[in-house]
Amino acid sequence: MKTEISIEFFPPQTPEGIEKLRSTRKALAKLNPSFFSVTYGAGGSTRERTFNVVKEIAAEGFAAAPHLSCIGSTRNNISEILGDYQAAGIRRIVALRGDLPSGMAETGEFRYANELVEFIRAETGDWFSIEVAAYPEWHPQARSPHDDLQAFARKVKAGANSAITQYFFNADAYFHFVDAAHALGVHVPIIPGIMPIAGFTKLARFSDACGADIPRWMRKKFESYGDDSEAIRAFGLDVITALCEKLIAGGAPGLHFYSMNQSPLTTEICRRLG
Ligand code: FAD
Repeated sequence: MKTEISIEFFPPQTPEGIEKLRSTRKALAKLNPSFFSVTYGAGGSTRERTFNVVKEIAAEGFAAAPHLSCIGSTRNNISEILGDYQAAGIRRIVALRGDLPSGMAETGEFRYANELVEFIRAETGDWFSIEVAAYPEWHPQARSPHDDLQAFARKVKAGANSAITQYFFNADAYFHFVDAAHALGVHVPIIPGIMPIAGFTKLARFSDACGADIPRWMRKKFESYGDDSEAIRAFGLDVITALCEKLIAGGAPGLHFYSMNQSPLTTEICRRLG
């Protein structure tokens, strides 16, 4: 059976970035993803840019899923954005709380992502298929794993159709999370988020911030390669392909690639997976 994949982009800031993303999309379209998603900057900072990329993807004939974060927003604001996406014929949305940008004190009218999911359902009924975020290694601000799992269950109860996880390198964390969700009676598909590894320094910094654990054996090996980007790339490809194989063999319902607007690594991983 073929594993469904989806691929995530961020909205570029420059005309060159927009052009580059077009060729990245063209290359990744060959993988026949079920949708391309486009991230949304905290506090609405990329509202226009996210919308423009989403419209382009849809015009190219692909399913497009905008991300939408609610922290710092008002109900009117979100309602307007939902209306724009409905008018553009968009049927899938990734609903998030987001993080307040530093210096922004106003939390707005939503506190957590479950309130956004509830609002989207109240405003638009079944128009959108809603994805939410899941954290196999737990969200960094969660009071406890138990509370985080309850928060996840609330988002599903509020009307989410499926979930995409934060990236992780420990397959066991994913399987444990799925089992724990099932034990709570939560049975929506939980799609693993996959981060292809292009370099180590940035990845290490980012992983610390978002709570993704880089196992010691991997960290040590990456560090031993120093500036040898070819060796890092080769080891990264081996590790991530092996992770994907394990996830698929263990029943993961699909894979969601954090492409970072690049095509070669995602393409190579999918080629290796067949
Ligand atoms: P929530 O589900 O609301 O959870 C946030 C925290 O609050 C968790 O610790 C949870 O345990 C806790 N919590 C929830 N409800 C309660 C409650 N009632 N009481 C107390 N605590 C509670 N960010 C962006 O800015 N733009 C993006 O496009 C984007 N895309 C993402 C895509 C994916 C697949 C993932 C996994 C993350 C993405 N993020 C994005 C990051 C995300 O916005 C952050 O991780 C954010 O900190 C949490 O968002 P959430 O939707 O998971 O929040």
